[in-house]
Amino acid sequence: MNFIKFLGTAGARFVMISQLRYSGGIFFSIDGTSFIVDPGPGTLIRAINSRPKLNISKIDGIFLSHRHLDHSCEINLMIEVMTEGGFKKRGIVFAPSDCLFKDPVILLYCRDFPEKIQVIEEEKIFYINNLRFEIPVKHRHGVETYGFKLKMKNKTISYIPDTEFFPELIDRYKGSQILILNTVLYEKRENIQHLCLLEAEQIIKNIKPEKAILTHFGMSMLKNKIWEKKDEISERVGTEVIIANDGMNFEF
Ligand SMILES: [Zn+2]
Repeated sequence: MNFIKFLGTAGARFVMISQLRYSGGIFFSIDGTSFIVDPGPGTLIRAINSRPKLNISKIDGIFLSHRHLDHSCEINLMIEVMTEGGFKKRGIVFAPSDCLFKDPVILLYCRDFPEKIQVIEEEKIFYINNLRFEIPVKHRHGVETYGFKLKMKNKTISYIPDTEFFPELIDRYKGSQILILNTVLYEKRENIQHLCLLEAEQIIKNIKPEKAILTHFGMSMLKNKIWEKKDEISERVGTEVIIANDGMNFEF
């Protein structure tokens, strides 16, 4: 069974700092390959406390969408976890160039631990084992940020991490059957480069995935009890919308 496990659903600083929601990133297990996406604070402890048990030390890769701490805080730790403390060279790390070269969040001392560290760029294609990833577009988020489309035989799973809305997002993530959207804001706030609920709905309505999963919630989403609005949102967009919670396991 393939699954996506949400080790954390916190978005933006306040929810992360207060740990109102955990910030442990997203664990994927697909066709026998597993990888972690955006290992924020608490990823390791959330993974170890996970039930049923997650084999976090056996991951084959790490995908870092951008350098903000709620996404990157445990990137070095995860590299050590994946490589048995640096003693076993294995796995692949994907990260934007600004995580590696200027004021790097991936420390120099653990750069040699993985099999490969791959700089991600718009329109590039990458692999973890047999899983094929496309990087559709550079997001608009202040720092270099990318999501992915993971192409399986009969499904495409896409992850749209932090970004402000721009229409090209819709074209570039088209053809996704499972769509994960980091939806921080309940209502739009000028000069905050995050999606609000209405914009997430607009993307879902146009892409028409089989299922859309909202995660990475800021304070306004929690205050407005976003989990109680699942049905009305699903009805508005004409797609089943799932509101992620900490520890949620999505199987497919
Ligand atoms: Zn961010």
